[in-house]
Amino acid sequence: MVCAQGQAVVKGYAIGRAAVMGAAALEVAHYRISPEDAQAECDRLKEALQTARNELDAIAVTLPDDAPRELAPLLTVHSMLLGDPMLLQQTCELIVGRHYNAEWALTSQGQFLTEQFALMEDEYLRERGGDIRQVIERVLRVMAGSPPLLPAFDSAETDDPLIVVARDISPADMLRLRGGRFAAFLTDLGGPTSHTAIVARSMNVPAVVGLGHFRSLVRDGDVLIADGFTGAVLVNPSAQILNEYRQRQADYARERLELARLRDAPAMTLDGITIRLEANIELPEEAEAAVQAGADGIGLFRSEFLFMGRPDLPSEEEQYEAYASVVKAMQGRPVTIRTLDIGADKSLDGDTTVATNPALGLRAIRYCLANPEIFATQLRALLRASIFGHVRILIPMISQMHEVRATRAAIESACRELDERGTPYACNYSLGAMVEIPAMAIAIEPFVDTLDFLSIGTNDLIQYTLAIDRGDSDVADLYDPMHPAVLRLIAHTINAGERAGKPVAVCGEMAGDARVTRMLLGLGLTQFSMHPQQMLDVKKEIRQAHSNALRTKVAMALNRAERIDLASLIN
Ligand code: PEP
Ligand code: MG
Repeated sequence: MVCAQGQAVVKGYAIGRAAVMGAAALEVAHYRISPEDAQAECDRLKEALQTARNELDAIAVTLPDDAPRELAPLLTVHSMLLGDPMLLQQTCELIVGRHYNAEWALTSQGQFLTEQFALMEDEYLRERGGDIRQVIERVLRVMAGSPPLLPAFDSAETDDPLIVVARDISPADMLRLRGGRFAAFLTDLGGPTSHTAIVARSMNVPAVVGLGHFRSLVRDGDVLIADGFTGAVLVNPSAQILNEYRQRQADYARERLELARLRDAPAMTLDGITIRLEANIELPEEAEAAVQAGADGIGLFRSEFLFMGRPDLPSEEEQYEAYASVVKAMQGRPVTIRTLDIGADKSLDGDTTVATNPALGLRAIRYCLANPEIFATQLRALLRASIFGHVRILIPMISQMHEVRATRAAIESACRELDERGTPYACNYSLGAMVEIPAMAIAIEPFVDTLDFLSIGTNDLIQYTLAIDRGDSDVADLYDPMHPAVLRLIAHTINAGERAGKPVAVCGEMAGDARVTRMLLGLGLTQFSMHPQQMLDVKKEIRQAHSNALRTKVAMALNRAERIDLASLIN
């Protein structure tokens, strides 16, 4: 039995037969052409680029209604890459200068470009090298004459579900594969933000990426087990292992079915404490998923995603439309919109300033107060959107009281500007702050007194408390949400909120991690905000927990600054 280990990106178990997708780039012919044929070879390349582009554009305009919504923009990116004059020009330079045949020149140029992407620091950009590979693959298929878009092995040859094994899968291929009976996607390349991962997640099909040279180890029809929890993939396993995984698969299916029943059940502990479950979103369209998941509101809308990945800033009008659409979609449920949290790992395009230590620099509220026009535009848009329902304005990275005062002054001045302009708006908002800097959590009292609500950003609170860069894999093992210092800061903030009668939520990743739900209940948390997909798992934990018993256990351990064993919190 062959085993491979990759990165699990979509949960679930799949058992099926391998359907291996060819990779034209690996089968390309390399030969030199004579100098007088160079122009004809460049023309052949140009024509293939255009044909591939036309194919993509045709797919884009005939997207079915149920296609994952990520696909249309991805197809546009691929079409733009194919139309980039530099790709044609630099590949032709290899044809003319080195006398490579067009396919060879194209794969060489593609390799050069993907290596450039691989050197990029930003993980998301690094993975965009995959886009180059995928569009080149498409052009090579066009040049080969008959593009084999689907795996050769198909459902006519077996009754078992098929598991796609590929070097990489482009968004356009993914669309074609959607029609098939595929139980999982396994790719040699890609990471958690690769398109395979993004699209597989939206299709809810288990996926494992980054499997190295797995494709070369597998033949069509091999029996495969894909474990979308651990990233393990097994080839031709024994009957005993197959039975074991069939059992796991059935248990998991039953579990999901039971969980789905919880959608409309109250998030109430065994001792009758009602917990609010809200959703984190990054784009306005995601509000719909929050409603579907049964969220009590939006606990965090990361507005910076409207500002990123574009050369210009969103106008007041564009922001107003985005915020208003979320408020309307939530149909009276509260909506928390965080003001621009730019800086550190989230930078604006074209911003070339190099901060000595961006995580400790001009980030979030510090950036907004230093750029009053950008801040004022956002505040005006928020006030206008509050016509449609209550907006909780959430300020990130607060550490000083004067930042709260400056924010209030900025809101008042935004109201005056709207009055002067005669633009309709409402003052239907409350003002809160993220608790993500230890200094604020330690000296929380004046903030609790002044603000309307607090939301604990555990992602940054952990990073700043433990001096661990949250994005640095070399110290990832030290990033410890269970550290007593972190837990004490959370407890201190929740207790201060309780005393002052002000709501306190957690909106960092801890809130959506069902393994730590009991710990957060034990710290006294009654408001959680998370990705909509995590909501049912967390609700299940809540409904099986006894909140007051947990509070006593956790308080005793925290007083002794002890590490708390999560297993000890099970009733
Ligand atoms: C956090 O820091 O926990 C948080 C929710 O904000 P972000 O992850 O966007 O920094
Ligand atoms: Mg944060």
